[in-house]
Amino acid sequence: MNRNWHEAHPMPSKATRQQRVEWHLEHAQVCGCRPPPASLLDEIRELEKRRLNPVGEGAASIRPLARSPAPPRRPAR
Ligand SMILES: [Zn+2]
Repeated sequence: MNRNWHEAHPMPSKATRQQRVEWHLEHAQVCGCRPPPASLLDEIRELEKRRLNPVGEGAASIRPLARSPAPPRRPAR
């Protein structure tokens, strides 16, 4: 189980269906502690396909999976 990922990516208690699909897609790629629910499987596969074969502007919305949660630096004034 990928404990670090789970700590960085808690499932929101009021997650939308889209959020759950994205969560399970990323989860399946970094951790396999539990399979995604069958009710979301089709949508997860669709999302995965779209991410693997981005078309046009969709490519810009792909987030790297292993992004560190460091906040952007801003000069303090
Ligand atoms: Zn897991």
